[in-house]
Amino acid sequence: MNILVCIKQVPDVSTLKADAATNALPIESAPNIVNTLDTYALETAVLLKDADAEIKVFALTMGPEAAKEALKSSLSVGADKAYRVSDVSLENSDTLATSYTLSRAVKTIEAREGLTFDLILCGKQTLDGDTAQVGAQLAEHLGYPQITAALEISTGDGKVRARRETGDGYEVLETALPAVVTISKTAYEPRYASVKTKMAANRAEIPVLTVEDLELDAARIGLTGSPTKIKSTYTPKRKTGGIKLEEEDGVIAAEKLAALLSDAGII
Ligand SMILES: Cc1cc2nc3c(=O)[nH]c(=O)nc-3n(C[C@H](O)[C@H](O)[C@H](O)COP(=O)(O)OP(=O)(O)OC[C@H]3O[C@@H](n4cnc5c(N)ncnc54)[C@H](O)[C@@H]3O)c2cc1C
Repeated sequence: MNILVCIKQVPDVSTLKADAATNALPIESAPNIVNTLDTYALETAVLLKDADAEIKVFALTMGPEAAKEALKSSLSVGADKAYRVSDVSLENSDTLATSYTLSRAVKTIEAREGLTFDLILCGKQTLDGDTAQVGAQLAEHLGYPQITAALEISTGDGKVRARRETGDGYEVLETALPAVVTISKTAYEPRYASVKTKMAANRAEIPVLTVEDLELDAARIGLTGSPTKIKSTYTPKRKTGGIKLEEEDGVIAAEKLAALLSDAGII
């Protein structure tokens, strides 16, 4: 079985502090990390590989030169091979253009490696874009079934079975392979790299795929191929003033709140 894990390099938003004067977030000053849920997706793949030596795990990213570090990191914790998609015409791609590009990369890598990917894993969502759209869209482009927000998965008999959290509890879904599964925060923590695996990852060759290699339709990438339009961006206004009701008794707090709203002419 062959597994492909989609990896996105993101700024470590936990290190960011808003500029007090402008409220802007200086994203460029944040160090780059592998998107957290992608590290869980990779660990899920590597755990399957630990149990079956026939399994090969590939990592794929679409990103600039710096994103090579995210792939090296993936190689150091169990991926067997990594590919990076990069091309200046991919700038300004939204999630639809990104997922289309990744779907073409899946097919191109399959042809180059002479294999098919049975399972494609993504993180459920990213720390920066945070849309949770790419995994689902990738499945649609490929025409594969998808299971989203999985907490654990198992495979067998040409199927993948996934446990996922719902508003009411848990559900277990099963679908035929090949399939796309997006991974939520799992019960197990991703493993750490050793000095030896880091050194091996540093030496690994990471092929780069371009728009030409992927035979991408120019109308479906970059700004032209991105139906998402950003109308405006703004910093939310900081709220000031207000009244905090700190009564321990909820009934008394509700009565006070009703009186305040009534005095203000709201109710
Ligand atoms: C108009 C517009 C222009 C944009 N221009 C740019 C730009 O120039 N440069 C830029 O970097 N971003 C740009 N973006 C943001 C870009 O579209 C998103 O970063 C990207 O599509 C992923 O979306 P997301 O972060 O919400 O991923 P989600 O949908 O939340 O990600 C889910 C999972 O999909 C996989 N995944 C997502 N992105 C990638 C990737 N790149 N490679 C491999 N796997 C991935 C990961 O497994 C991830 O966990 C632009 C967005 C818009 C709307």
